[in-house]
Amino acid sequence: MENISKNTRRMMAERNLRFNKALGQNFLTDTSVLSRIVAGAALDANTFVLEIGPGIGVLTQELAARAGRVVAVELDGGLIPVLSENLRDWDNVTILNADILKVDLAALFQEYAAGRTIKVVANLPYYITTPILMRLLEEKHPISDIVVMVQREVADRLCAKAGTKAYGAISVAVQYYCQADVICAVPPHAFVPPPKVWSSVVRLHRYAVPPVTLSNESHFFKLVKAAFGQRRKTLVNAVANFDGLCTCKEDIKKVLNKMDIPENVRGERLDLIQFAQISNELYCQIYAN
Ligand code: SAM
Repeated sequence: MENISKNTRRMMAERNLRFNKALGQNFLTDTSVLSRIVAGAALDANTFVLEIGPGIGVLTQELAARAGRVVAVELDGGLIPVLSENLRDWDNVTILNADILKVDLAALFQEYAAGRTIKVVANLPYYITTPILMRLLEEKHPISDIVVMVQREVADRLCAKAGTKAYGAISVAVQYYCQADVICAVPPHAFVPPPKVWSSVVRLHRYAVPPVTLSNESHFFKLVKAAFGQRRKTLVNAVANFDGLCTCKEDIKKVLNKMDIPENVRGERLDLIQFAQISNELYCQIYAN
């Protein structure tokens, strides 16, 4: 670890490069954490890996050694020469200098994945964790697993169960698409420079079919957004008259009574299955009226 840290600092210094805080540049230098990430991703020759933010390529080398093909998308053009140099021995890696939020992922997978199982593996830039994850999930690409380093509090939110403090709209959304698990917690000193926060590696294993059936996905996500938008309010007060839900207090109370849920329940107490059932019932009522 000492060596990777020193090498990382040396490679940056030799090229007059600075760690760009605004781009979330905290480079991983702990070999045991690198091993946990690649083991968690379970790679083989039939795997295609999209790596987001390869930095100078320490994780990329590990991915290239195990996966059939790797595409690494790095926004910082200043890192591309050192990244290319560090990956020169790998002919199965393509480096793209681009913003991951703007890349056409469908085209990328079509061009590079060629029938392989698609996985996303990354030490994510923390300032855009949520937009990246929501993009990967909502666009419904054929991604089987996402194994990523995120801020520890974010990992807790992704995996949180109903009724806990960390539980929120993103927990419900992620658990609709995936089985979410924390692989390990990672201290600040595993990176150069060390971030101010602890991190965690999480694995999101995408369900082939979501665990609940929805009458209307967009209605479900609006309901969840409304329920957590005003966390301290009861579900009835938070959701009634919410833009786009076409529902009133009486309608929601009727549904809660039918499901044997107290009328004063807050959204944070409801699990994925209950949210799905409430959404389906309310959606049905819209068409019954
Ligand atoms: N993978 C390297 C590692 O583990 O040491 C670097 C990880 S560092 C936390 C995040 C990386 O994401 C940086 O290299 C940063 O330049 C890059 N990055 C930041 N924003 C990005 C974006 N919008 N698209 C692609 N890469 C981005």
